[in-house]
Amino acid sequence: MFTLDSASSPMRQFKASLGHILLVEDEDLIRDTVALALRNEGYDVSVSEDGHGALELLQRFEQTGGAAELVPLDLIILDIMLPGVNGLDLCRLLRRQGAMVPILILSAKGSEADRVVGLEVGADDYLAKPFGMQELIARCRALLRRQRLNVTGSQSVLRCREIYLYPQECRVTVRGEEANLSPKEFRILELFMSYPRRVWPREQLLEKIWGPDFIGDSKTVDVHIRWLREKIELDPSSPEYLVTVRGFGYRFG
Ligand code: CA
Repeated sequence: MFTLDSASSPMRQFKASLGHILLVEDEDLIRDTVALALRNEGYDVSVSEDGHGALELLQRFEQTGGAAELVPLDLIILDIMLPGVNGLDLCRLLRRQGAMVPILILSAKGSEADRVVGLEVGADDYLAKPFGMQELIARCRALLRRQRLNVTGSQSVLRCREIYLYPQECRVTVRGEEANLSPKEFRILELFMSYPRRVWPREQLLEKIWGPDFIGDSKTVDVHIRWLREKIELDPSSPEYLVTVRGFGYRFG
C-alpha cells in the first residue's frame, strides 16, 4: 500500500516545495507524525507502509518517467523492519537499479554494526529510533542540500560511470578524453546528468534547452541527441547512456 501526497498527484503543476520525500514506515503513529512534521516544514510527502508499496510507487515513477506526470523524488526515508521486503533489501535493490536518490535509513536497532550495514547497502545516512523530530528534519535538510549541490553542480562534478561533466568549466570528459561538445549539446547533457534516469519528453527538452519561443519541431531534439551520442557513446547505435524510452522520450543512465 502506498499513498501519494495529494500535492504530488498526477498532472500536478510544480509549486514551491522544499522537496518531495517518500516515507516508508509500517508503524502508523511514527509514519503519521513524521509525515505531518515534514509537511509542516514545507516538504511534499508520499507515504508507504511496506516495502512492496514503496517498490510499486518507485516503479510508477519509473514508468511514467517522473518528469512527465509525477513530481520526482528527492529523498527516501526508509525504516529497516518492514513487512515484506525489508528496508535494507529495498535500499540495496534501489542502488543496484541505479537509483541515485538520497536514502535515510530509520531503525529501532541502534548498534554500530547495524549502522555500518545500513551505509554499506547504499544508504546516505542512518538514524536510530527513538529519534527527535528536529534531528530527523535537520538530517533531511542536510541530505537535500547535499543533493542540490550535486545537482546544480555549483561545487562538484556531475559524473556517470565514465562521463564527467564540469559545470563551471563547461567541459566534459568521456573515458578520460575531452569531448568537444557544442553549447547546446553541453546543456542537454548537463540537464540529463542532473536528473539521472529521469525521462524527458521531446517537448520538455525543447522548452528547457531551446526556450518557449523556439519555432520548429521535436525532430531537432532527435538530431542533437544523435550528435551527442556520437560524442559520448562507445557504440552510438546501441547507446548505454542516452537511452530512448519508446513512447516517452529520452533518459540518461
Ligand atoms: Ca518498522
